[in-house]
Amino acid sequence: MLDNLFIVDAHEDIAYHLSYFNRDFINPSVPCMITLPWLKEGNIRLVFNTIFVPTEFKPQKTVETALHQLSIYDRIYEEHNTDILQVKNYNDLSRLKQDSRIGFITLMEGADPIREPRELDDFYERGVRVIGLAWNDQNQYASGNNTDSGLTENGKELIKRMNDLRITLDLSHLNERCFWEALENCTTIPIASHSNARSLTDHPRNLKDDQLSAISERGGVIGLVLYNQFLKTWGQNPTSGDQSQPTLEDIFAHADYIINLCGEDHVGIGSDLDGAGVEDFPKEIRTVADLSKIAEFFLKKGYSEERVRKIMGGNFLRVLKENL
Ligand SMILES: [Zn+2]
Repeated sequence: MLDNLFIVDAHEDIAYHLSYFNRDFINPSVPCMITLPWLKEGNIRLVFNTIFVPTEFKPQKTVETALHQLSIYDRIYEEHNTDILQVKNYNDLSRLKQDSRIGFITLMEGADPIREPRELDDFYERGVRVIGLAWNDQNQYASGNNTDSGLTENGKELIKRMNDLRITLDLSHLNERCFWEALENCTTIPIASHSNARSLTDHPRNLKDDQLSAISERGGVIGLVLYNQFLKTWGQNPTSGDQSQPTLEDIFAHADYIINLCGEDHVGIGSDLDGAGVEDFPKEIRTVADLSKIAEFFLKKGYSEERVRKIMGGNFLRVLKENL
């Protein structure tokens, strides 16, 4: 294990899981992958903590659900202020290196709760610093992988306001048309918080080579997502192909592919843990504390210590410092 490894995880659905299962953050009574003790044990130093409204709550309870998740985070910041620091600006981010606390920077996955662009200020006030315009479905701004519509006028207006506030644009989940239109309108450094290489695993949630290159050319970072179906075409057709569950080897394959295409400054980790069930992730990853196994594995594969530090956190940290 590398000394003082600074792990950044660009996608953790913490409040969604805590509220959906009404579970505890310290001693959960249901199967889960993220708790405060595991974050500490695993040397996770910065988390993109998401606001995520599941489809079943849309549209009636969209705003209510988002506000409830924000209040869950507020309670966590208050109850665990010796362990967790809410990151809202450059100074907070800089403080993390000396501070032993874990930084939480809020990512809104799907901008549905922002009913119109001018409401962005309210969410900024609450600490939202990264936004993905849409989840898989369509909303007032953009469309995810389930449709092929482009950005709306409101979508362009929202990105303009995000640019002004230096809110980072997350391109994961957008359909191809929205991806390119959003990128064109964005003036800060874009990221894909949780997406893999589509050339390796042909799933619409993954990114094609030209998309990966476009993000890296703008200085951005692609977070490797650990969800099995995005790591490997697996388990869907039991009569063909390799049916073994994805492993660390598959995570490495995606990392290596993107590094060969974009360079080592453009890959990070966006685990998506607690965005699905425990069994939906590689068998070596059972809790968030296991993320450090990725670093060990990459070192074993011959990656330099410097490269591994960049992938495990340095790259996302660089983008946030520039954008904030
Ligand atoms: Zn997602």
